[in-house]
Amino acid sequence: MKLKIQARAKINWTLDVVGVLPNGYHDLDMLMQSVTLCDQMTMEDADELTLSVRMGGSFVPADETNLVLRAARALQQHSGCTKGARITLRKYIPVAAGMGGGSSDAAAALKGLNVLWGLGLDDDTLEEIGLTIGADVPFCIRGGLQRAQGVGERLTPVAMKRPLYIVAFQPCRGLSTKEVFTSLHEDGIRDEDRPDNEAAQRALENGDVRLLGRSLGNVLEPVSRRLRPDIDKAIRDIEAAGAVGARMTGSGSAVFGVFLHAGACRKAAQELQKTYPTCRMMRTAECGVVIEEE
Ligand code: ATP
Repeated sequence: MKLKIQARAKINWTLDVVGVLPNGYHDLDMLMQSVTLCDQMTMEDADELTLSVRMGGSFVPADETNLVLRAARALQQHSGCTKGARITLRKYIPVAAGMGGGSSDAAAALKGLNVLWGLGLDDDTLEEIGLTIGADVPFCIRGGLQRAQGVGERLTPVAMKRPLYIVAFQPCRGLSTKEVFTSLHEDGIRDEDRPDNEAAQRALENGDVRLLGRSLGNVLEPVSRRLRPDIDKAIRDIEAAGAVGARMTGSGSAVFGVFLHAGACRKAAQELQKTYPTCRMMRTAECGVVIEEE
């Protein structure tokens, strides 16, 4: 059997830190969204488990630290399966960007190998295994539009009125999630930087893009902007190109903007590409992982 898999990126419409969990992790409240930008993975039957990675920009290791192999090992351990797989990964999602690239690859590996190895595990079980790899992996398995709480593992689906068009790109070097959260402790959170999660959710449910634009927010943005001033300029450039709202996603360093119509979005993407060659237009997606049998 040979599988062709799309591992989709995500953006954060919102990201708020609402407290500290008993285990010391941040208690988050976010609206997370799968988008059509994706990494491409193939997998086929083999005796050994192997991974090869091809990429455009920055470097991702193809060794056992890669989240694809970590996910595959966790699945072997959970299921007792000793089969192998030949996996290839082509990276298109920017790295250390807050677009969930590694998490999405891990989710694709879990969902794909579940099929390839005939394990018959349900998504809830895959999400539990995924959470041992990373906090965003359960979201990437579930995909679509979700209100994500806790460390991001408590997921509630939100019904979206209609697909929306966005541009996204990484205007500068990547940022590590750990570095950003450490700096957040020093800087603290100002109330005016908090998103309005309830209004943003209502806007998505009703397809009210203007209200969505006003309700976006990410409490990590001021910290990441301080660490990478290019983020600030990129957000202003997206707004100047006609977005109804623009923000940083996750812990950065990628930024996105949402538009009223596909046409306005396409025009803005063409304009922004002159300054930011990696700028891409994309659409919201209803799931995080797409599997096709070849
Ligand atoms: P998130 O949005 O989930 O916080 P991110 O987009 O900020 O994630 P990633 O692109 O997932 O960050 O990568 C973070 C780190 O993980 C990188 O330093 C990279 O070397 C490592 N990594 C391991 N496996 C992968 C993978 N398959 N794809 C991308 N990065 C990976």
